[in-house]
Amino acid sequence: MRYVSTRGSAPVLEFGEALLAGLADDGGLYVPEEWPVLAAGGRGNYIETAVEVMMPFVAGSIEEDDFAVMVADAYTTFETSDVTPLLELSDGVHLLELFHGPTLAFKDLALQLVGRLFDHELSRRGERITIVGATSGDTGSAAIEACQGRDAVDMVILHPSGRVSEVQRRQMTTVNATNVHNVAVDGTFDDCQDLVKAMFADVTFRDEVRLSAVNSINWARVMAQVVYYVVAAERLGGRHSPVAFSVPTGNFGNVFAGHVARLSGLDVRQLVVGSNTNDVLTQFFTEGTMGITEVVPTTSPSMDIQVSSNLERLLFEINGRDGAALGAQLDNFRATGCFQLDPALRASLVDGWAGARFVDNAVQACIADEADQSGILLDPHTAVGLLAARACRRDSSIPMVALATAHPAKFPDAVEAATGVRPELPNHLADLYERPERLTELPADLVVIEDFVRAHRR
Ligand SMILES: *Cc1c(COP(=O)(O)O)cnc(C)c1O
Repeated sequence: MRYVSTRGSAPVLEFGEALLAGLADDGGLYVPEEWPVLAAGGRGNYIETAVEVMMPFVAGSIEEDDFAVMVADAYTTFETSDVTPLLELSDGVHLLELFHGPTLAFKDLALQLVGRLFDHELSRRGERITIVGATSGDTGSAAIEACQGRDAVDMVILHPSGRVSEVQRRQMTTVNATNVHNVAVDGTFDDCQDLVKAMFADVTFRDEVRLSAVNSINWARVMAQVVYYVVAAERLGGRHSPVAFSVPTGNFGNVFAGHVARLSGLDVRQLVVGSNTNDVLTQFFTEGTMGITEVVPTTSPSMDIQVSSNLERLLFEINGRDGAALGAQLDNFRATGCFQLDPALRASLVDGWAGARFVDNAVQACIADEADQSGILLDPHTAVGLLAARACRRDSSIPMVALATAHPAKFPDAVEAATGVRPELPNHLADLYERPERLTELPADLVVIEDFVRAHRR
C-alpha cells in the first residue's frame, strides 16, 4: 500500500514512512492510494479481525506475523476480552463502549497500537525520536500510556498548569517511566500548542532532537479505528447488513474511520456527527458552510475544537482526489475564515451524513435520563453522540450504534452534577489518587522548554 498527500504534491510514501512523517511536506494529510476491499469476513475475535482489516494498509512495510504480535499486545491491555463491548439501550440504540483501555478514552484503541508501530519502525531503521505534544487532557495520557518504556522514543508532554482535570493530570503524571516527562506550563492550552508549533518551526532544534508527534492527523490512528466499526457491524448482522453510527466529534478522526470502513465496503448507511456548543461540523453537514468563531469551554472538552483537521481527508474524497482544488479551497478558508461547499459537492454528502448540536443543559438532562431509565452512567461526550443518534436516526429497521468514547469516571464532576452519583474508577486505576506524581512546572518560554527537552532526551 502506498500513501498520497491530500494536497497532491508531497512524495508518495509507504506505510512506515507515512507513520513517521505524520503531516505531509506539502501541508496535506496522508491517505491510502486506494481503498482496500473488505473481505466477506468470518466471525473472528477482535484481535483476529483487527489484523485482517488493517493488514492491507500496512502491506509492504510490516510482515503479517510481526503485525499480529503488535496487535495482540495492544489489545490485551484492555479490560474486557471483547475489547469493545456492545450493549443495547431501552430504545434499541446500541452503545459501543470504546473506553476499556488503560486511560479510559477511545484514543487508547489507536494509540496502544501506534506506540508499538513507532517502536517497530524505529528499531528496524536503527533510529530514535523525541515526541513532544501539547494536551488538554485525553490525548496526553493515552500517548504516554502507549509510549512509556519504549526504547526508541523519548516523550515530553506539555499541559496547561491547573487547567486539566485532576483525573487527567494524574493519569499523565503518575506514569513511572524514564522516557516520559510531564511539563505543567504556566499558560493556556493554546500557549502549549504554540510552543509545540514553535519547536517544529525551529529547524535546528527539530533536527537536533529528531522531533516527532503522535497527533490525530497521523494516518495510523485513523487506520486502527476502522476496526471497531467492522467489529460492531459483524456483531449486529454481518459486514453486508446495513448499519448506522453516531459519533461525538472533535477532530473528525473517529468518524472518518467509519467512512473508511464504508469506502472499503461496510454497509454504513448513515454517519451522524454529534457536536457540543462548538458546532462547526454540524454547520458543515447541515448547511455546507463553516465559519470560525471562538472556542467555548463545555463539559465535553475533547470536542471543544473549531477547525477539525481530519475533515481534510473527507474533502479530498469528495473533490475526486484533486489535491490542487482542495488546496485552493483551504487557502481561501484560511484567508477569509469562511468556507462554502460547492452545491454539487454538498449533494454528495446528503445521504450518508448527518449532524446535530447539543448544549450542556441537554447533555446533562440526557445523562440524568439514561441513569434513571437504565442505570447506565454516560460521560458527557458519549451523551452528545447518543442525543445525535436519536435526533438524526432515519430508519428504525437499521441498527444505530452510538460510540461511547469515554468512561464516566474520566469526567466525574459532570456525571455527578447530572445524576448525584460519583462514578468509580475501574480497578486498575483505583489507587490513582495515592500514586506519586512527577511533573515539572515551567514558564511558557520557548528557550526554557527546548532546554528541558534537550536535557531529558536519552
Ligand atoms: C478525542 C475525543 C473525542 C473526539 O474525537 P475526534 O476523533 O477528535 O473527533 C470525543 N470524545 C472523547 C472522549 C475524546 O477523547
